[in-house]
Amino acid sequence: MPVLDERCKAFTEPSRASEQINYAESGRQTRLLTIFTCGCILGSRTNTRAQRTDIVDQQTRSRMMSAIGGKNTKPELALRRALHARGFRFRIHSKHVYGQPDIVLAKYHAVVFVHGCFWHRHQGCRYTTNPSTRSDFWMAKFDANVVRDNMVRTALLANGWRVATVWECALRKPEKISATVECLSTWLVSAEDEIEIE
Ligand SMILES: [Zn+2]
Repeated sequence: MPVLDERCKAFTEPSRASEQINYAESGRQTRLLTIFTCGCILGSRTNTRAQRTDIVDQQTRSRMMSAIGGKNTKPELALRRALHARGFRFRIHSKHVYGQPDIVLAKYHAVVFVHGCFWHRHQGCRYTTNPSTRSDFWMAKFDANVVRDNMVRTALLANGWRVATVWECALRKPEKISATVECLSTWLVSAEDEIEIE
C-alpha cells in the first residue's frame, strides 16, 4: 500500500482520505483506489460515471471504435517494457479476454488498460481537452468511449478479473513511469480488485 503523504499537493482531504484507507486495510473498501504516481492515495471512490445505455446503434458504435485505434502507443510500450523488466509475464491484446485488455497477467487474474486521457476522458486531466468545433459529434464519441470502458470493466470484474486502469499521463515521463510501475507491481500482488493510476 503506497504511503499517504500529507505534504503532497494531491492530498487535499485528510480526514476523508484516512478514513477510506482504513476501509481499504480492513477489507471493506469499495473496489477502486485512486493512487497518484507521487505515491499518495487521494481517496477511494466508487464508480462515479453513471451507467448509461448505449446512445448509438451497433454499426455506428463499430465505426466509432475503429477510429480510436490506440494500440501499442508509446506509453503502452513503455509500461510493457517496465513490467517485463520487473519479471512480470503477460499477453497483450488477447482476443480471449473480454474487451481485449492491453495487458493480461493471467497468473495474477489481472488485466491492465492503458487509457489515452483525451479519448477516454480522464476527468480533471489537462490533456482531456474539448475540441472547439463539431462539439456534439465529439461529445457523442467520448460518451460512447466512457460507456464502453465502464461496461468492459464491470463485466471483467463480474467475471473474476482484477482490473487496472492506467492513464497515459502517468506514463509521460521516465520518473512517472517508474512510479506507475511501482504502484502497479504492488497492486498485482495485492488482494485489491481494482486500481486506477493517474
Ligand atoms: Zn490524464
